[in-house]
Amino acid sequence: MMHLILFGPPGAGKGTQAQLLVDHFKFLHLSTGDLLRGEIAAKTELGLQAKKFIDAGELVPDETVIGMIKNLIDRICTVPGVIYDGFPRTVAQAIALDNMLTECKEGITALLSLEVPHDELVKRLLIRGESSGRTDDADVATIENRITVYGEKTQPLINHYTQLGKYHPIEGVGSIEEISTRLINKVKTL
Ligand code: AMP
Repeated sequence: MMHLILFGPPGAGKGTQAQLLVDHFKFLHLSTGDLLRGEIAAKTELGLQAKKFIDAGELVPDETVIGMIKNLIDRICTVPGVIYDGFPRTVAQAIALDNMLTECKEGITALLSLEVPHDELVKRLLIRGESSGRTDDADVATIENRITVYGEKTQPLINHYTQLGKYHPIEGVGSIEEISTRLINKVKTL
């Protein structure tokens, strides 16, 4: 089974590329951002709590996000492959995922890291904010905060997976199709 983490800063194109990988390989798409937005739309208690963090460009607490993944572990452990999109985002989440997968005798296959320069990220997020209506894409200050939080809390995962020999940088600039081809070709080598 394949467990692929699609990694990169906000605006790197994880959601778009995850969907294309899922279409190609027929894997399960697991986006914690989508799950959280679903909770907000359904006005659940979890959603109400999460919204405050999301709107501020902060991470939702680890226990909340890890709990959502735990609820899906039976599917995660039985499908042919999973694309993790926006998860894990902290070292604590990565360790929790490693432990959950070990319990079903699985493990992370690779971390595919989309590499995109800072100015390009801000440009893409502002454009997305105009069309998606996502509150966390609406202003430059929130976007910059998300990129800073990424650098402080999420980027350290690169070390974690490099030590495990699972880090694969992928050039994240170019057309959507070009980037998708790079990713698909990389996955075929794993
Ligand atoms: P995304 O759609 O992946 O960009 O996620 C949107 C927002 O949801 C992020 O800026 C965080 O506030 C929150 N979020 C999504 N995934 C996680 C996660 N794994 N850990 C903590 N917060 C998350």
